[in-house]
Amino acid sequence: MSTSHAFVDLGEIERARVAIAGTVRTTPVNLSVSLTDLAGVPVSLKLEHTQITGSFKLRGATNAVACLSDDEKRRGVVGVSTGNHGRGLAYAARAAGVRCIICMSRLVPQAKIDGIKAQGAEVRIVGSSQDEAQGEVDRLVTEDGMIMIPPFDHRKIIAGQGTLGLELLEQVPDVATVLVPVSGGGLVSGVAAAIKARRPDVRIVGVSMQRGAAMHACLAAGKPVLVEELATLADSLGGGIGLDNQLTFAMTRDLVDEVVLVSEAEIAAAIRHVYWQERQIIEGSGAVGVALLLARRIESAGPVAAILSGGNIDMKQHHRIISGEDVDVTKEVA
Ligand SMILES: *Cc1c(COP(=O)(O)O)cnc(C)c1O
Repeated sequence: MSTSHAFVDLGEIERARVAIAGTVRTTPVNLSVSLTDLAGVPVSLKLEHTQITGSFKLRGATNAVACLSDDEKRRGVVGVSTGNHGRGLAYAARAAGVRCIICMSRLVPQAKIDGIKAQGAEVRIVGSSQDEAQGEVDRLVTEDGMIMIPPFDHRKIIAGQGTLGLELLEQVPDVATVLVPVSGGGLVSGVAAAIKARRPDVRIVGVSMQRGAAMHACLAAGKPVLVEELATLADSLGGGIGLDNQLTFAMTRDLVDEVVLVSEAEIAAAIRHVYWQERQIIEGSGAVGVALLLARRIESAGPVAAILSGGNIDMKQHHRIISGEDVDVTKEVA
């Protein structure tokens, strides 16, 4: 592990904001009447699931592509993500006129493949595991000179995600507590770096699911460790932070006040609540902040903002959840 890298700072995040301005949407904030009543302080929801491609990942990907040299842009970008990072990277590359290949194993469901293709990327199906897909990415980098864009542990990605923090401070200037979904920690690192630089008194609370929360386990261990990936409604929060983590582990440890966990039932309740009370469709990963509020497991003396980080949920699953069905993905094969 190396923690010698300087943290991403406010200047880098402000430059990212300029770089992504033409491609990325400024997403709205809604005051939630129901959650304000429940919490006893104003609760705002940052509607980032209405971002183009359905998640904040477009911010980091757009910044990373914008920061490539002309030579790197000619060589093109590659990634392995089948989820929101893949969508964001595909869209960002197309918007910049840069070739993009997303590699995935043949076990990836057709809906995910179609989601990536719809954003204009080339999809390469290789092998039957994530490792084999990663092998193809490595080959494209070493043999074809393409540029690998990772999903979170990368300065330009973190700076891009941090733009969400700057936006939020302008939209909710008196915010006291910000609830941020956490997986690899790119979003929470960027948001914390942006907000703490301007308002060190604001409390940043990371939220993950109980099942397979890698960053939470790494913070407890004091270093990056391997964590088993488990099926969860918050599927965009799965996966490890990388044993050779360069930035997001140290930034989360030093800038984020705490990382807390929510259960599958709490996540389902939040998806349901946001649909019926706020009339928004969000995925499980975007629901963890609301889950914490609904469970009354967060106290704040002042206004709270929760980031609804994404909306890419299987609509059949969403339908079952909002209809009150007890959807237990932990019994389904991951
Ligand atoms: C990727 C993702 C997260 C977590 O972001 P990290 O930077 O990996 O911590 C949260 N919500 C959604 C919807 C995501 O796609």
